[in-house]
Amino acid sequence: MLKVHTLPYNPWQENTYIISAENGDCIIIDPGCLSPEEQQHLVAYVSENKLNPVKLLNTHLHLDHVFGNRFVSEHFKLGAIAHKGDEFWLEQTVPYAAQMGMQLEQNPPALEGYLEDNQEIEFGGSVIQVLHIPGHSPGGVALYCPNEGFAIVGDVLFRESIGRTDLPGGDFDTLISGIKTKLLSLPDETVVYSGHGPSTTIGHEKVHNQFF
Ligand SMILES: [Zn+2]
Ligand SMILES: [Zn+2]
Repeated sequence: MLKVHTLPYNPWQENTYIISAENGDCIIIDPGCLSPEEQQHLVAYVSENKLNPVKLLNTHLHLDHVFGNRFVSEHFKLGAIAHKGDEFWLEQTVPYAAQMGMQLEQNPPALEGYLEDNQEIEFGGSVIQVLHIPGHSPGGVALYCPNEGFAIVGDVLFRESIGRTDLPGGDFDTLISGIKTKLLSLPDETVVYSGHGPSTTIGHEKVHNQFF
């Protein structure tokens, strides 16, 4: 059994996820922790639960999802892994933050490796499948765990909504077709963990999401 824990951080209330296995190994996904208090909150969760972070993954590289990448990389000695299509965003973190009136000292560190469509990551006796779903961002991925019945989808799909498509590299039709073919085809009971807001299920979105 894997456990999925949600930690909302930063002014965008971005959901950082920690997937942990029974042996204490965990994967940190989209660390959005920005303030020192948020950074320490994440560390406290890891230590109080006696977890051992073994991977740092990003669903995509928009700034609200990478604020904590440098901290997590340095604190836990982990390099981030994400889809190559979003790599250009890393250099945009400081300038984008400045546009929002935020002063960041550094961009996140370079990626250590890449996530690719249909890649399978073995973790805690389960397999996590990488589903490349561009449209919100060119390198957006969902992380789907079939035997645990959940998907961590970043900003691709939200409860009764979808990700914005007006940022560089975004495309509405691409996003809709990717969601339809790769997410709505999953079992109805699949729990969907989004980059912001509450979780949902594939079945709920098929019925209640106005975009489909
Ligand atoms: Zn995003
Ligand atoms: Zn976001």
